Amino acid sequence: MNKSIAGFIPIVFFWAASALAAPFSNVLIVSIDALHPDALSTKTTPVIYGQMMSGAYTLNGISTDPPLTLISHTALFTGLGPAESEKSDNNWQPGEPTIAKNTIFNLARSCGFLTGYYYSKEKLGFLVNPAVSDHRFSKDNAVDIAHAFIQKPGNHFVFLHVSGLDEVGPVKGWLSPEYLEELSFIDEMLGALINTIRRKGDYLIIITSDHAGHGTVHGSNHPDDFKLPFVIVSDRIKPDRFRNIPYRVVDLKPMIEGLLVPDPRQSLAR
Ligand SMILES: [Zn+2]
Repeated sequence: MNKSIAGFIPIVFFWAASALAAPFSNVLIVSIDALHPDALSTKTTPVIYGQMMSGAYTLNGISTDPPLTLISHTALFTGLGPAESEKSDNNWQPGEPTIAKNTIFNLARSCGFLTGYYYSKEKLGFLVNPAVSDHRFSKDNAVDIAHAFIQKPGNHFVFLHVSGLDEVGPVKGWLSPEYLEELSFIDEMLGALINTIRRKGDYLIIITSDHAGHGTVHGSNHPDDFKLPFVIVSDRIKPDRFRNIPYRVVDLKPMIEGLLVPDPRQSLAR
């Protein structure tokens, strides 16, 4: 985390006691499961690449250890690694206890957002808590469901998990032609959703992942397995301070908190 982002954190607590009003009408966080940052390009992912160019990004993001789906998403939601979040396994089934820690959705709700969580792997249901006003597990239609939610009246805070690469990678290989083809499909699907949000204005969009892989393997201690991209674009903040930031999955929650809560020391600029 760089100094400018770390500087947000104390101010969060100062402002938390007063009525919160986020400077965004719509916040969308997309986690493309198993996305290797080297797969992003103008040719394969024109939509995501467009967000990178108009916002800020790093291709050197780092997952949790071990770099596995549920452990990494728990870190994204709670800002806590497996030792602190007490979620150190990669399994969950409906009916089992869900996350007990505060997540990114708790502050989003206190800021008045309608909160939506749409995911395409059932075990991510572990991260549903009472601060999530609408949630759905859908293997194939999570993007469309999120799109429908965000078109309703009100301010929205959405976390969307997209599956596909995590299935192609272990069979065909990370960065294989089939993997890139699947990514192009995902990129195109996201295009309509991102266009809707950008058209509405006052938006914050983050596109990231939970881990990558190498060959047909992931979740190992190979350096590629820990890699992920982080892209941030908004019409309400200057992208400069996020350019090439050091980023780990545990940084997302404090970053979101700093952005949702008005910070008098930072000038928001259109
Ligand atoms: Zn994953």
